[in-house]
Amino acid sequence: MTQSRNRQFVLTEIPKGKLGLEHFVLQESAMPQPDDGEVLIKVRYISIDPANRAWMQGKTYRDAVKAGDIMAGYALGDVVQSRHPKFKRGDLVSGDCGWQENAVRPGEQLQKLRSMEPVTHLMSVYGITGLTAYFGLLEIGTPQPDETLVISAAAGAVGSVAGQIGKIKGCRVVGITGSDEKCAWLTSDLGFDAAINYKKQDLHTALRQACPDGIDIYFDNVGGDILEAVLFQTKMHGRIICCGMVSGYDGELPANGPRGIPGLLVVNRITMRGFIVMDFLEKFGQALKPLADWVATGRIQVKEDVIDGLENTPKALIGLLHGENYGKRMVKVS
Ligand code: NDP
Repeated sequence: MTQSRNRQFVLTEIPKGKLGLEHFVLQESAMPQPDDGEVLIKVRYISIDPANRAWMQGKTYRDAVKAGDIMAGYALGDVVQSRHPKFKRGDLVSGDCGWQENAVRPGEQLQKLRSMEPVTHLMSVYGITGLTAYFGLLEIGTPQPDETLVISAAAGAVGSVAGQIGKIKGCRVVGITGSDEKCAWLTSDLGFDAAINYKKQDLHTALRQACPDGIDIYFDNVGGDILEAVLFQTKMHGRIICCGMVSGYDGELPANGPRGIPGLLVVNRITMRGFIVMDFLEKFGQALKPLADWVATGRIQVKEDVIDGLENTPKALIGLLHGENYGKRMVKVS
């Protein structure tokens, strides 16, 4: 039977503090219809990203999500109807389809993908997650054998892949994460050399113990106090990969840390460099082959955390911001 209605989540207000279920409403509307140049997509998976919350704080590398908008979100889906010459019914595509079952998007804003099994890998290791880990670490961190690499949000989507690539490149890898269970997973399953529970341990002491020779590279996913603690133990000519700052996304911008940046950077000739994965768009093809080889040979373990049902999307994002996920979280819509 052809679907005639479309379910979608609207952001009802911009949260002032922590994001809650009360900030979303699930509504039904008529099935959208594509105009010339547009494509109708049936969504399969919605990517759950910390950035979803950051977009509510204002303009970033994309426009802010405002109260009353259909909640924005990257997704994977099938073309149902196309009025764009590049796409046809049945094509697998990705793009910002939002939190809804069906979306109409301009063809220019969609990427056509080659299907694979499992298709979820296109959202994790072969999607934004894996590419962010790959280019952030290799292009900005430039890891060398025997260097010490520290990663925050290490049990998450980007962090867990970045750490495993660090091991492949011969680094000593130390993960920072929010529970003892996640620490155990990093060291016993993913091969990290050490892990620190930032919610329980004193970071300065734990970092000194885990990195007795100092830190060469820091893959920073969180900013704030953890960045500050790492900076104080970063070595001469150290590199800090500024990937994200999840500690500042859910609520007011952080009042704490990092302090001491200018002095430490100057004296220790440290490089801090931010990036957005799309900066490397031209090179995405080059990354997919090594990533596929590492997955095939078991050198990268892919961890996916799939939540079932569109209706659970707000809960999935709130849970991610509270550290529920291991690896890449996504919602299966259809
Ligand atoms: P994750 O899967 O890592 O999920 C976020 C994790 O952050 C949670 O699981 C939680 O784990 C941790 N976390 C939450 N709050 C805090 C806090 N206050 N302090 C420390 N850790 C916290 O998400 P992604 O892998 O998708 O994203 C990781 C980072 O990469 C984000 O900052 C994101 O914005 C960024 N990113 C950047 C891109 C770019 O192009 N620059 C592209 C994609 C992502 P825990 O239990 O450890 O607390």
